[in-house]
Order: sequence, then C-alpha cells, then structure tokens
Amino acid sequence: MRHIQRRIALLALPALVGSILVATGPAGADPTGPSAATSRSQPEDRESVRLVQIRLTGADMLDKVAAAGFDLEHGLRRVPTGIEGEAVVTAEQVTELTAMGVEVLADDAGFAWSDQADGGIGVDAAGARAVQPSNHQATVRIARADWFTTKGQGFLYVEARTTEGQQADPIVGMQVENDSGKDTPFGFARTMSRFVDSGQYMFHRNLFKLDTRPTRIQVTSSTGGVTTGVVSNWLENAPPPLTANPSYKSDFVDGYKHPQQLYSRAKEIARQYPDIAEIVYLPNQTNGYQRKAQAQLGGTGQAAVVVTSAAWGHEGGNDITVEFVGRPDANLPLALEVTGKAVRVLLATDAAGAPTSTATQVADALRTRSAGLIDRAHPYRTNEGSGIVAPTAGPVALTDFLDQKRVGAPEGEVPRGPATIPVLRIGKHRDGKKPGVLIQAQDHAREWVPATTSLESAERLVHNYRSDRETKKIVENTDIFFILSNNPDGANYSFYNFASQRKNMTNHCPDASADPAQRNSWGVDLNRNYRVGSGHDGYAGGSTNCVSGTYQGPEELSEPESKNIIWLVEKYSNIKFMMSVHSNGGQLFWQPGAYIADGRITTPRPPLGDEAFYWQSAARILSQVKAHRETVVTPENVGGSSDVLYSSAGNVREDLYYTYGIYAFGWEVGGSVYNPATGDWQGGSFQPEWTGNPELVSGHAETMEYANGIMEMFRVAADWGKDKKDPTSRLIPGDGKYRGPVDVRFETSEPATIYYTTDGSRPTLESPRYAATEFREPGQVFHVTETTTFRWFSVDSAGNIEKNYDPTKTDKRNNYRTATITIAKK
Ligand SMILES: [Zn+2]
Repeated sequence: MRHIQRRIALLALPALVGSILVATGPAGADPTGPSAATSRSQPEDRESVRLVQIRLTGADMLDKVAAAGFDLEHGLRRVPTGIEGEAVVTAEQVTELTAMGVEVLADDAGFAWSDQADGGIGVDAAGARAVQPSNHQATVRIARADWFTTKGQGFLYVEARTTEGQQADPIVGMQVENDSGKDTPFGFARTMSRFVDSGQYMFHRNLFKLDTRPTRIQVTSSTGGVTTGVVSNWLENAPPPLTANPSYKSDFVDGYKHPQQLYSRAKEIARQYPDIAEIVYLPNQTNGYQRKAQAQLGGTGQAAVVVTSAAWGHEGGNDITVEFVGRPDANLPLALEVTGKAVRVLLATDAAGAPTSTATQVADALRTRSAGLIDRAHPYRTNEGSGIVAPTAGPVALTDFLDQKRVGAPEGEVPRGPATIPVLRIGKHRDGKKPGVLIQAQDHAREWVPATTSLESAERLVHNYRSDRETKKIVENTDIFFILSNNPDGANYSFYNFASQRKNMTNHCPDASADPAQRNSWGVDLNRNYRVGSGHDGYAGGSTNCVSGTYQGPEELSEPESKNIIWLVEKYSNIKFMMSVHSNGGQLFWQPGAYIADGRITTPRPPLGDEAFYWQSAARILSQVKAHRETVVTPENVGGSSDVLYSSAGNVREDLYYTYGIYAFGWEVGGSVYNPATGDWQGGSFQPEWTGNPELVSGHAETMEYANGIMEMFRVAADWGKDKKDPTSRLIPGDGKYRGPVDVRFETSEPATIYYTTDGSRPTLESPRYAATEFREPGQVFHVTETTTFRWFSVDSAGNIEKNYDPTKTDKRNNYRTATITIAKK
C-alpha cells in the first residue's frame, strides 16, 4: 500500500535496454494467427461572418490557416483526405481560404467513412501473401479492432500499422477483412485509409458499418504483411446509468445559461446545501466584459485615423466625440480644442487655406494633446497615414459597440467590468483528504453546452445526495470543484454580441489589428495560454497572431483565467482529476496533446499504467454517455489529443498532468451522432437548438447524456481514492529454462506501470519503464536470446506499489519481483 508521487519528467523519456529487441503484442492479437512480430526502431467587418464547411489537406495546412488568423477550431475531424471542419469567416475570407488551398464544401456535406471496398490498392490478398518475400510477412500489427452498435446499427473500427507505413514510393496500402462470426471465413475486403500527420505515418484506420458482429479480422499490407486479430467490444453492455434508479432525479437545466445565471445558481446551491457545498472565489478577476470606445474617421485609406479612448466605454469613453475641423484662413498650425468630452482637431492649412494635416500628424496630436481622453490614435492598419485628413461633417461619437446586441441575445444588460469567477465546491468532506475533481467548462466562449452539462451534474449531486445511495457515495468520497464558465467575459460577448466568440476579450493587438472592425477577433485562446508544450516553447497549434482563433497570448499564463486554474490546483493539491469540457465533436482526450511539428515530437507519452487507466476511465465515462440515448464516442476519437485530432500547444491538460500529476481529460461534447434515417454520422454545433431533435442534435439531450459521463468520472475518482490494493504483475512466460530465444512481456492485474532492470541492479523509479510497443498499442515484447534476470515492481494509478516495495531506498527485504529466463546453450 506504499504510495508514491507519480513522476512524469517532461524530458525523461524511457530508455530501452540495448541488448533487448523490442517486438510486438498487438491489442486483440490472435496468438494462433501468423506472427506480426518484428524488430523495429523506436521510434474586415466581422458582422457578416458565416460558418462554412471546409476541408484541409492536413495538419500543415491547418497550422498555416490558423496562423493566418482564421477561426476554425472545434468540430474538426480527421478524414482520410485530411481534416474537415467549420470556419467562421467573411465572404472575403472564403476567397482567401480557397487561395490557400482550402476546399470549401457545400453546407452539411458531412463526411462518412466508406463502407465499401474501393479496390484502391489492387491486391489480391491471398495471392500477395503467396508471392511476397518472407521478410514482408511480419510487418503488420493490429492496434484496435472494436465493435459497437448505436441506434440499431453495428460498426467495426479498425486501426492497424505497417512498419512500412512511412514509405512513400510506393505508398504501402492496407486491406482489412472480417469474418461473420465464429468459425466463418474472412471476406469483405476493404481498403484502409492511411493516416499521416505532420509528415509522420500514424497508422491506417477505418470505421465500417456492419450488420453482423465479426469475431476476428485479418489485415494485409500491399507488400504482403499479414496478421489477424480478435474483435473487442467498445462500450457494449453499458451498465445501467444512475438515472435508471427510479428515485434518482435529473433534468434540472431548462435552457442555455449565461455566466450571470450560472454563477448565481452556483451561489444559490451553496446557500441551499451548506453541509455539502460552498463557493471558492478565484483570486484573479477577469479583464472584464468591457471595451475601449472607438471611432474610425476618414474611411480606410491613407487619410483614415483610428481613435481609441483612454477610458473604458462605460466609464466615459462612450461620451467622447471627435471632430476634424477645416478652417478658411491660410497658414494655420494643427491645433486641438477639448471642451468636456468634445475633442476638436483644427486642421492645419497651407498658403491657399487648404488642409495640410496628415493622418499621422492628426493621430499624434490626438494621442498627446487630448487632455488624456484619447490614448491610442493611429493610421488604419498598415497604412503610413500620409493622406491629408478631410474635415468631418460634424462631431463623431466614440462607442465600445457593446450596446449593439446580436439577434436573439437574452434580455437585459450585461454587467460591465471585471468579473470574479466563483467555483462551486461540492463534497461532504472538503478537508483536502478526498480526491479532488476539477470540472472546468467554457474556456471557449461559444461553447454553451459544456456549461449546462456541468451545471446539470452539480444539480444531480445536491438533489440526489440524500435519496440516492450512489450519489451519496460520490459526495462522501470526492471533493468536486465546478467552474461553470471559465471565460465569463467571452461568454457574455457570445450571448449578447457575437455568437461565435471563442476567446476571452483581452485585446493584445498592435495598432495594425486594433481598428474596430477587428473587434470580434481579439482575445486570447485560454486553452493555449498554459506553460507545458506551449507555442512559446515551439509546439504547434498556438498562434502568435492576436486575431487568430488560437492566439496563445503574449506570454504563458498572461491571462487571469489561466492563472486562476494554476492557483486552484496549487491551493487544493488533492485535485487529482480534471475535465476540461469543450464542444463540439464527440471526443475524449488526454496526453499527449501537443507536438513540435518538425519531426512530430509530442510531449512525453504517459507511462503505460496511466495510459491504461485513461482508457479504462474513458470506457466507464463513455458507457454512461451511451446509456442515455445510444450516443457513441468512437474509439478513433479517444486517446492522446494530438494523436487523434491535432496539436494544441499550451493547453491546460498538458500543464496539469505534467506539472501536477493530475489525470487531465479534455472533452468535446456533442456532435457526431449516428442518424439511422440517413445512414450518416451527423455533426453538432456550438449552440444547437436547445430542444432540437432529441434523437440527433439537441442542446438538452447533449446536456443530459454528457452529465451522465461527468457523474461517472466522479465515481472513477471515488474508486481511485479508495484504492488501497497493491497491483500484481507477472512476466509471461515466467521463470524457467527454454531451449531457444523466447518472447516475453509483462502483464498487470490492473492499470499499472512497471519499472524493471535486466542488469542485476535493483529496480528504482529511474529504471526503464515498461513501454508500449507503439502508441495506442499494449506493452512491448522482449525477444530474449541469452539468460536474463528481470527485476521489477509495478505501481498502479493510485500510487500503490506491488508488495509494498520501496523503490526510493535500499531495504534488506529487496521486496521487488524477479524472474530468470534461462536460455539453454546449444
Ligand atoms: Zn473549446
């Protein structure tokens, strides 16, 4: 029961023992099938914006498009031909995108994996096997073969690798065949899609529609490699959800909530349930739902001047007027008159009495001589400001534009100024001894369902605590922190002004991007503002462009909203679980979530024990989502986020996992629901109609099903906290004498990481870690050719060490595990 702090050094990648050859042990591998083993090396006015469906050729193009300032996060999905998604763009930007090579698809042209063979690789599988040289025989591994059903339809998801996958000339193709049940022949050959990311071959994968569950599959490469594997269940036989208990209460949230409503309800819950709930206020106020007042005078040419008030709009900026005044007399100097909040710029004249002041001169005068009313004035964008400024027809009023409400905005005024974010803390024992779970919603302003999903989960906890046994166990054994909206300024902007707002409202832009037509593009992407694997460190997926949808901020943790998260997890060090709730996409993520594009170097892969624990937890969480209305988050959308989607530099999950050892999940709720009527997967949206179609896209249905998943995450945390049981492990095969080389691997009784030695030394936390064969695959296989003694211990996800061994100091018991593989001399 000895516990250790989980240690994940950012640069301490596990080393392999030189004399040991790494081979394979694919998931679902069929031990009776042909061996797949092989040795391998380790590897403008934004008011008129609209949403368009786009397709990009790959991550390189995604990076370029994001760096150019396009707003196209979320709803992105990998397809065989690249990446598809939505972009929030103007008509002009559609032209720009097209020029960059982005394909603009027709609306609602959703992608569906092909379920027909297209014969693309042109290989007769059996014939190829017969004629190919034997050194190609062992080049294919199956990483996943998962079966699931949704809304009456069966699906098979296959992920397989060829060791020749990186080869480009010719590209190595893969085909998959399946049987139709036990003892039936393989058939139904289909071409698999090759998945390449940032220039690196990842694997081949496809999702196929099938009516009968296969028991085995066979994967063949175009160079003759072949392997077979057993089909596993994905989220089949989901246990009854908590909602199956007739006395369990749910369905509390009746519509989208803006931040004031969310925070007000959080405080009310704390008042109503003082024995199990309280409010913790985050220390850093936001930069505020507020803007400086602006005006752009003289069009967009060289004579244009952009004027910004020193005071916030609501604190006097909106009362300022600026007037450019022509005068009939000759040879007058440029002058300013300030009366109250009225600024008059008296333009200079030449000998003929014509105006001579340039935009630059007028801007300089406004900045320095307006009695402090104007502290920012400059030519338009990148203009030099060399044009002669013309008189205005009269005074021009500055405005912060925040009183311009979008169609459909809620009633009422939004409080201006900085906001204090309340955290709703729920738990019977809030003493730091129970495992803490942080639920952080709406980092991205336009994502409204994550907020309602989180609020629904909080309501379920407090309403069921006294009446439902399972809920009581959760409340008594966890310490839960809800941030119902971590971006209240942006969220208000999304509700009241610009529905597609993603970032916060902090304007870090230089003059060239500071004119009011750019205001819907200002702000920092809070989920790019953290310190690990950040854009500042050279990782991909964060932008240095202040008007990009993924702008990372001027420095790491520049924003109060991200500073607050770090404050919270440092103050409450019992927080061991985190879910960053986003929309939309139907994805569940963990680490790695970022990479350096050149070479595709990811943040370190979690140790095998953590990886297995993530998968185990994901299956529990997603089974509960499925239990609500059969929504399946598919296995292709689960895993390290940079493996299955894209690199997001400086995201919160990387920081919390690598810095604090917190199991940090990312969730894209909503989207990707199978529609049996059309036979296609239907994507969601950021703000689906609340009632919508309850079987397809509906804010209400998504809120309810994903709240099921959050409740299950609490149970995962409660179980983790109660886990005092040591893991056990074994070497397969074990101790013994063997006539020749033998392939060995480790197995553990539960998700656990193994540290081992083969050089006679005692195993410590610095010893090699038992690693995956390749990412998204199980543990490596050692090809042992000489007598070797393995010494090892295992550590489970809760930090329990096998046999109570203490790897940190030499003790006389030397209570680690040992096994000797004796290879007989010939
Ligand atoms: Zn998001």
